Amino acid sequence: TISMLALDKEGNLAGACTTSGAAWKMHGRVGDSPIIGAGLFLDNEVGAAAATGLGEAMMKTAGSAMVVELMRQGKSPEEACKEIVERIYRIYKDDPELAYLQVGFIALNKQGEYGAYCLRPGFNYAVQSSNKENTLFDATFKL
Ligand code: ASP
Repeated sequence: TISMLALDKEGNLAGACTTSGAAWKMHGRVGDSPIIGAGLFLDNEVGAAAATGLGEAMMKTAGSAMVVELMRQGKSPEEACKEIVERIYRIYKDDPELAYLQVGFIALNKQGEYGAYCLRPGFNYAVQSSNKENTLFDATFKL
């Protein structure tokens, strides 16, 4: 999945999300990326979030929408991403699929603060702002 979140100079948020879907997916499977609230969510009063990884996990938790709701309650973008990644971990912790499970979120709030969190290594995100160079980050990982 490739997702992009943006905040313009007037303070308006935008987001987009694209994916080729899961490897070896069943014919007709629809992943989380085109489902608003699962793979992508944005509220112009609060912030925006987007996901990558096992789409079923994002759909079960309305993951991106929940990240935005947690930011509305005052969590930082990284704290909000972390809480939903941990929620997904709890759902899958006894599932044999856990060994292959990757989920990650990026988030951006209305103040221009950003963050990310993922379950395991291998999830990078880049930030570009008008007063900084392009920066590439390794998202924090849990396992
Ligand atoms: N989230 C996508 C899906 O489950 C997979 C990906 O990360 O590209 O369809």
